[in-house]
Amino acid sequence: MTYDFDLFVIGAGSGGVRAARFAAGYGARVAVAESRYLGGTCVNVGCVPKKLLVYGAHFAEDFEQAQGFGWSLADAQFDWPTLIANKNREIERLNGVYRNLLVNSGVTLLEGHARLLDDNHVELDGQRYSAKHILIATGGWPHIPDIPGREHAIGSNEAFFLEQLPKRVLVVGGGYIAVEFASIFHGLGAETTLLYRRELFLRGFDGAVRRHLRDELSKRGLDLQFNSDIERIDKQADGSLLATLQDGRTLEADCVFYATGRRPMLDNLGLENTSVELDERGFIKVDEQFLTSASSILAIGDVIGRVQLTPVALAEGMAVARRLFKPEEYRPADYQSIPTAVFSLPNIGTVGLTEEEAKAAGHRVEVYESRFRPMKLSLTECQERTLMKLVVDADSDRVLGCHMVGPEAGEIVQGLAVALKAGATKRVFDDTIGVHPTAAEEFVTMRTPVGD
Ligand code: FAD
Ligand code: NDP
Repeated sequence: MTYDFDLFVIGAGSGGVRAARFAAGYGARVAVAESRYLGGTCVNVGCVPKKLLVYGAHFAEDFEQAQGFGWSLADAQFDWPTLIANKNREIERLNGVYRNLLVNSGVTLLEGHARLLDDNHVELDGQRYSAKHILIATGGWPHIPDIPGREHAIGSNEAFFLEQLPKRVLVVGGGYIAVEFASIFHGLGAETTLLYRRELFLRGFDGAVRRHLRDELSKRGLDLQFNSDIERIDKQADGSLLATLQDGRTLEADCVFYATGRRPMLDNLGLENTSVELDERGFIKVDEQFLTSASSILAIGDVIGRVQLTPVALAEGMAVARRLFKPEEYRPADYQSIPTAVFSLPNIGTVGLTEEEAKAAGHRVEVYESRFRPMKLSLTECQERTLMKLVVDADSDRVLGCHMVGPEAGEIVQGLAVALKAGATKRVFDDTIGVHPTAAEEFVTMRTPVGD
């Protein structure tokens, strides 16, 4: 049987673009369908614009700290519409870059909503296409719980396009997005409260990291309210919002921002016409080679709900392209020691096991910790402290995890991820000469384990 394409990719986000480009590079005839924006979530309403806003928010403390180094600045003013307009311009440029990447690699770009007709056919704008393999890379979408007044709340998609910076913001959630956006709003000058339903945010991160970030954010004046959740939201006569909490308290705000996780984007995808199955959480079920229950349909990225990070979607896209069209170079996607950063202010950077995970996995654990005031702050009033932590297997000496809260933690942890991947022991860390004077050198100079 002949098909229009060897591979039909639905979704030109992180994973879809990567799979499409590499498959085309290996000689396959590839089409990509995209209904909304080239580059997907990461480029348009995720990593990239988020990082730009984080940079924007960081200037507030830079200006303040600059005074200790002799700079005097006239009353610094911030203009949200300028930041958003400049951000939008940059994203448009990136959309163009993605278009060129696809077209120049020989991929057929189809702009519109794709719907599966059966295990080998897709419909887009009334046109029917056949493909030997179909890759679902449709990503995710913010999930906002169905509470009364939900229509008054926004999610991350809307936050990137607010016309004005709200004066008072309630951020709901305790994951990456909640913590990052609370830092952005607070840094840019909004009165910000973060509400999280359990005792301490960032569940799954190392306990010391979670507590350290809690203390640092509180020091900066961010209002953290744990064990708190909203029951309903009402719009008041003056346009402001009144959030009634489950414990009966009320909080007034101009914006209620929900960051309570993301659901798979399966809207009108036509999955019912195929034999693709979902897992118990509603994400697309795949095997270790990203095959769904339909033998011609694969799925990668956020829509399979494994690790919702861009580099992971890229790795999964590569694995699919290689397995289908360059099997001699196929390597399974590797989920061990995925480094990650939370771009809160200050940042978290982490790779490998947390102390809690290492203990639960049966390791006899040695922990090394360093807490210090970064040198850059020594001429300033700022009392921010950095945390660095190593989790080591006491029996094999292998470093199991590296964790940091402090400036540039994401940048620092990337290199450490290579060391962990290579199986570095604490001895190797100790034998590594530091770069002086940096914060990063602490990771190779911690000598005494902390008591249990
Ligand atoms: P996506 O990038 O979401 O792409 C899916 C694409 O499919 C979209 O363009 C969509 O329009 C399209 N689509 C959907 N349905 C159809 C259809 N039926 N027909 C045609 N097209 C369709 N990750 C990091 O690693 N670092 C970060 O700093 C980071 N920050 C983030 C910040 C925010 C606010 C958010 C929301 C996410 C962030 N992420 C970050 C996560 C990252 O963006 C995702 O993990 C990544 O984009 C997933 O890629 P994907 O290819 O699975 O899906
Ligand atoms: P997460 O899954 O990380 O966090 C969701 C948070 O919302 C959790 O704290 C959860 O609480 C809470 N929550 C869930 N449901 C409810 C509810 N009904 N009411 C109140 N609170 C609720 O999701 P995010 O939306 O923050 O981000 C989605 C994913 O995107 C991340 O997991 C990450 O993979 C990716 N991302 C990565 C970034 C990065 O790399 N820097 C940045 C942003 C996003 P509980 O702990 O109790 O479950």
